[in-house]
Amino acid sequence: LKTPYQQDYAALSAAIEIRGARVHNLQSVDIDIPRDAVTVITGVSGSGKSSLAFDTLYAEGQRQYIDSLSAYARQFLDQIPRPDVDSIDGLAPTLAIDQKAGNSGARSTVATVTEIYDYLRLLFARVGTPHCSNCGSAIAQQSADNIRETLLAMPEKTKLVLMAPMVRGRRGEHREVLETIQKSGLVRARVDGEMYLLEDIPPLAVRKNHSIEAVIDRLVIREGIESRLHDSVDLALRLGEGLMSALVQKPGTDETETIFSTSMACVECGASFEELEPRTFSFNSPYGACPTCDGLGTMGEGENTDMCQSCEGSRLRPEARRVTIGGLSIDRLTAMSLCDAKDWMDQVVQHTSALHAKVADPIVREVTRRLEFLMRVGVTYLTLDRAADSLSGGELQRVRLATSIGSGLVGVCYVLDEPSIGLHPADHNRLIDCIRQLQTQGNTVVIVEHDEATMRHADFLVDIGPGAGKHGGKIISQGTPDEVASDPNSLTGAYLLGTRSVPIPKTRREPKDWLTITDVTTHNLKKVTAEFPLGMLVGISGVSGSGKSSLVNDTLYPALAKKLGLVSVKPGPFKSLRGATKIDKLIPIDQAPIGRSPRSCPATYAGVLDEVRKVFAKTREAKTRGFSTSRFSFNSKEGQCELCKGHGVERISMNFLSDLFVTCTRCGGKRFNRQTLQVRFKGASVADVLEMSIDGAAEFFENVPKIHRQLVSLQDVGLGYVHLGQASTTLSGGEAQRIKLGTELARVSTGKTLYLLDEPTTGLHFSDVERLVGVLQRLVDAGNTVLVIEHNFDLLAACDWIVDLGPEGGDGGGEILAAGTPETVAKTKNNATGKYLAQTLK
Ligand code: ADP
Ligand code: ADP
Ligand code: ZN
Repeated sequence: LKTPYQQDYAALSAAIEIRGARVHNLQSVDIDIPRDAVTVITGVSGSGKSSLAFDTLYAEGQRQYIDSLSAYARQFLDQIPRPDVDSIDGLAPTLAIDQKAGNSGARSTVATVTEIYDYLRLLFARVGTPHCSNCGSAIAQQSADNIRETLLAMPEKTKLVLMAPMVRGRRGEHREVLETIQKSGLVRARVDGEMYLLEDIPPLAVRKNHSIEAVIDRLVIREGIESRLHDSVDLALRLGEGLMSALVQKPGTDETETIFSTSMACVECGASFEELEPRTFSFNSPYGACPTCDGLGTMGEGENTDMCQSCEGSRLRPEARRVTIGGLSIDRLTAMSLCDAKDWMDQVVQHTSALHAKVADPIVREVTRRLEFLMRVGVTYLTLDRAADSLSGGELQRVRLATSIGSGLVGVCYVLDEPSIGLHPADHNRLIDCIRQLQTQGNTVVIVEHDEATMRHADFLVDIGPGAGKHGGKIISQGTPDEVASDPNSLTGAYLLGTRSVPIPKTRREPKDWLTITDVTTHNLKKVTAEFPLGMLVGISGVSGSGKSSLVNDTLYPALAKKLGLVSVKPGPFKSLRGATKIDKLIPIDQAPIGRSPRSCPATYAGVLDEVRKVFAKTREAKTRGFSTSRFSFNSKEGQCELCKGHGVERISMNFLSDLFVTCTRCGGKRFNRQTLQVRFKGASVADVLEMSIDGAAEFFENVPKIHRQLVSLQDVGLGYVHLGQASTTLSGGEAQRIKLGTELARVSTGKTLYLLDEPTTGLHFSDVERLVGVLQRLVDAGNTVLVIEHNFDLLAACDWIVDLGPEGGDGGGEILAAGTPETVAKTKNNATGKYLAQTLK
């Protein structure tokens, strides 16, 4: 099974040597990670993969990096907890390629994130042709030679007055200007349109907006004038800083004035323009941003968001949009998909003059290289102007991966978090190629991943386990993928070898009632009519960009929400929604954080803390002190630590890094004040309870049925290892999603609920997927409907029904290719999902 790239890790001499890693649950882990190789770290969720890859390796790399960088950062260094590890040797600078939106806000687009926009701005500034706003014609950049030629080409006896504009009149500058003119040996100037001898210029009041022009020369066109003209034009352009004007009186005509510029001037009307520079095209700069919408392209918020009318959503000023190459403006170029943009780039040199082609060539090559990397990571369908905050986490990560490859850095240790998220297996190979390219450029790549194909392509595979939390944190197996597969100790190995697999149900549920949405045209959907059987486990599949989220998240969900009278965003366009009366509750279970402040945690979200507070308030100690339930909330004034206000941490903002959270010095992270902590239940304070893992707490509250049931539901979704008080900001998207799922499981179900899940297998090991399938089946057994957007074929094979979209991403997709049982879909011809499904069902 060895792939052509795979290297023999044992032959690689250099390694990152980690000794005694004890971060979170790691049990004094020693491991050598080969340098200049691709290593995959796997294991059940909560086993300690991220603790090793991100919180140990990457964290220490960052420390060393900050240490080498800035004194400002160093003053906080002793506050950044040094990862609990004896030593890490051979560590290169580390960079993480993750899925978090980070600082890519509304002002970032695919083009800006990838730095392609920087090159496009340069390209348009250097070789773009601006068009005049007065007369629409092209504006040419003139050289001094051009200007001389134009003047010399005038008829004999034409009278010329050459002038250099000196100043646009800042306060008090006129005297200085006049001195400069005098020093140049000149004797005349035009002030506010009137000609004066320098000595006759009236004492100008010191005020703004005088226009002063030095009169450089007065001459008549005739034989032998060339050399005089040569010098005069040079002097004019020098004093005028690239700008000059000429009063022209051709024989028998009136005097006219023409402006010449070595920067920009309209060849028709002579109007001169600001010289183009890259900032002209930046919507994040006042030079380029549409003044109406301030470069956002939209006006208003939420449901009232509309395209900005004055820039038509392009974010740019009219001046910037009037600059073209081969007739195309920068905003029309970025509106293209990546592959169309690449085609255009391939031909752009033909649209430019020979001189320009030379300037354009290196820029075009940089852009093309980056476009190719983006296409290879499988996001061909994205447009360059797509807002970064509208990308899914997986798409964003792949865009970042392509950017890293394009940056051409060497000697870096890249740490990646589940790059396969959101990718159909049909797209995996290209992604794996890209990861390999990052490595062969001279880098070390460490990936936390559950995807089988990625594991099989690794040079070195590390299996952490055996369980989650305190039951994990050990290296179970390491070596080549084959070595791990044949290791009897490794659970991962058993799945790789095929001796263990996620079970496929023997029978499928029969469809009875249907939920039907017709003629959907959201984003790329091609007037799609989709039917979802109710009371079943339904999978929505298809290559990425095919339209799954457009159908389910952007249309079906908001349409249903509206019908049920819930607040919601505007659904995408569709004609009708039928069968909605069979549903009385709609529960989206997404990967959005369960709270954005460190004050929220699993215990608060799942409602466990409310019950725990009641237990504490009932203790004799609480009663004698007169403490009510609110006392045991870190959100209440009476209960919380006065210094950190119940956060447990203090926030330090860093100018150039993300905010730093430092443990509160007063409560030591316990969040509560001393009096509250003195109250104990079975020997534990309320802070001690929050420090328990869900597994630990389930044991501790065995005799408190209400709490116990809530905790068992969280265990059922594989979260036993998570701490009750773990700040929600430290939970992964997958964990947040499973907390929501577990919380729902604990509630009494109506049996007419529709659950919507988007890639719930994110962050899940084979064995976790097995457990998740069990939980979803239980929800359906209770009469509910579960709709799941998924790429994981173990989960898809367990569904009763599949709706498959495709055939490609973007405009090449947006159709329903197949719908039916997994067996039916597996039999459809020329279908990527069918092909992989058939393999899974075998
Ligand atoms: P994996 O990446 O394998 O899913 P993690 O490394 O995220 O697992 O977690 C391993 C253990 O460390 C778990 O018990 C988890 O609850 C705990 N843990 C993870 N992050 C933190 C944190 N920021 N604070 C405390 N415990 C944490
Ligand atoms: P999937 O969920 O199957 O990966 P999506 O529904 O996210 O696919 O995307 C389908 C198409 O719609 C893609 O071409 C994508 O770029 C486009 N699209 C998705 N979301 C947006 C958005 N917010 N704005 C513009 N285009 C979008
Ligand atoms: Zn605008």
